[in-house]
Formats: sequence, structure tokens, C-alpha cells
Amino acid sequence: MFASMECTQAAEALLLHAARVAAPREIVAVLGGCIAGANAQVRRVVMLPNDAIDGDASFAVDSVAFSQCEHELRNGGDTFLGFAHSHPNGSTAPSIRDREQLWTECVQMITDGHTWKAFVLDKNRAVHPLTALPAPTTHAQPTNHQEQRS
Ligand SMILES: [Zn+2]
Repeated sequence: MFASMECTQAAEALLLHAARVAAPREIVAVLGGCIAGANAQVRRVVMLPNDAIDGDASFAVDSVAFSQCEHELRNGGDTFLGFAHSHPNGSTAPSIRDREQLWTECVQMITDGHTWKAFVLDKNRAVHPLTALPAPTTHAQPTNHQEQRS
């Protein structure tokens, strides 16, 4: 099971922006990337349509949309890691409903549009917070293109 998580700056920016734009509705997204030991490395965020019908403070995911999304991740060489959803009310802690209904044993990320926290629910639905590791900086430096002209 995961113990920590890191998120590329691009993936994080996309998710936080989407959460702010959608508020007061919740957003839901699938997270893809790779697994290094107990560390989940998120590098893809694929937004899912929110099919919630009972107001703003909840979300539901269509299973067809989800499987298409997972397929898209695999085709892009990414592994399914889990889900992200938003709490426009400003709390990044899992709600009672989250603890009861979210998928177990995968990454669950909650954002308020400004920051995020991640955790895993074990089989008994106990919450295990994930340590947020700094975003990898490997792609942050722009490549120096030294044009070679004679
Ligand atoms: Zn929630």
C-alpha cells in the first residue's frame, strides 16, 4: 500500500484550477502515473464528468466514463493510481461519506482548489494519510537549446 505521493507541478496546477473553476460543484478526476515502491507518482490528471444528481456536495462517477479513462491512461503508458475530488467548502479531510464510499486501496486525493491532501482507505476503511513529497523537478528546468550555426 502507498505511504507517500508526489504530483508533477503540471498535474497539480490542472487539478487545482479545475476545482476552483467548478466550485461550488465538486470535481472528480482519475489519477495516473507510476509506482515507485510505496510512492505514488502522479503525472496525469484526467477529469471525469461529475454525474452527481443530489446537489453540489457530492460526486458520482459513471463506470463507462471511468473505464474509458483508465484505458486512456494505459495507452499513454501510465498506471491507474486512484482518484482526486474537490471539497469546495475548503476542507481537504475525507468526509464521512468519503470514508464510507470511496474506493479502497488506491490513492484518494482531496483538494479545496488551493491545496491538497491524499490518503488511502484500507480494506477496513481506515484512513492512512499519504506523505506529500515535493514535486519532481526533472522537467522543471527548460532545456538549453544552443543553436549551432556555422
Ligand atoms: Zn469528499
